[in-house]
Amino acid sequence: MGYKWVLIGLISMKNKYLELFNELKKKLDSYPNETNNQRYIQIMLERRLKNLSINSDDNYEPDKISRKIIYAIDKKVSLDEVDSKEAQNLINIGKVQKDLSDFVRTQMDSELISRIGYIPIIKVDPSKGGRGKEKLFWLDIELLESLAVSDLRDDDDTLENYYEVTYQREPTSKIKPSLFIRLFFRNGELKMYSPKGLLLIALMLASLLLDVLIVLFSIVFIIFMKDLPTLSLITALTIIALIPFAYMNFLWFFKPLHHLMTHRVSKAPLLFASLNTDNADIEMYKGADGYRIARITAFTSICPICTAPIELADGKPDQRQPLVGRCREAPHAHVYSFDRMTLRGYFLGHVGYLKTHSNIVYI
Ligand SMILES: [Zn+2]
Repeated sequence: MGYKWVLIGLISMKNKYLELFNELKKKLDSYPNETNNQRYIQIMLERRLKNLSINSDDNYEPDKISRKIIYAIDKKVSLDEVDSKEAQNLINIGKVQKDLSDFVRTQMDSELISRIGYIPIIKVDPSKGGRGKEKLFWLDIELLESLAVSDLRDDDDTLENYYEVTYQREPTSKIKPSLFIRLFFRNGELKMYSPKGLLLIALMLASLLLDVLIVLFSIVFIIFMKDLPTLSLITALTIIALIPFAYMNFLWFFKPLHHLMTHRVSKAPLLFASLNTDNADIEMYKGADGYRIARITAFTSICPICTAPIELADGKPDQRQPLVGRCREAPHAHVYSFDRMTLRGYFLGHVGYLKTHSNIVYI
């Protein structure tokens, strides 16, 4: 073993890190999804890739990162604004590591990995941490064979359940109101027995009446169409096109409002949320003066399975409840019930997910 071998060793070492991390970055960039964990991996990777090309041997001390820093970068806030407890609860390093392993296994080029013989993993700084101290993490590589042993579980990580979520009620000010809302609601709220509230109910009933009339008129028109010799094609088509119009009005305006009155909480119809807001709900509650008030809000949570956002959605066609929480990345697999009083939800999907969970706990 001479100097030459050491040099070759160093060069191949350098290649290992660079090749693996660059490949991981490429794959992460081309498989974007909305899960928190994927963003955390990207943040850690970016940190690690900084200066890596010039300092990439085994002795290189990588730039380490704490949960607080990851949180601040992710939410685009300054470090002082970060609530340590929230960062701690949200960023479960054991789960981030599990998602990283899954991603490496399913998305990365297996040929490249077996040629290099290493995989990317998250390491924890053993010297730091303990009560009141921030633990530090960084991305490193590990021999492929030791994959099974490297199931990282950080002591600080709380064991989250897959079967329970807690919803948050977004403040009304965060939801951008549509023109329609600004017309009827004040600060995102509408008293149902105020003149505007009664006007809305009247409008709702009138629109239902109009729908019924349109459908009746169109049916009568179709029956007697051939007895009208002077009728132009355009007139005929216009009258027939009123049927889908009536149907859409029923579906998007009347039904959600009626649903709101009977179920207390409902998805906001298209008219209610501005086009820039992709998620909005309406809920009814009793105001201080005893009158019913409709309020624009959004109920959200974070999917415990994949860390993507959960939003309220129609229970149909796979669920019995009219309104359920669905994960944005896997809307029909990661499904939760919704209880507006406790703001809790329970897993409604396949029991297989819960089995996987119990394996993780008891290994
Ligand atoms: Zn999910």
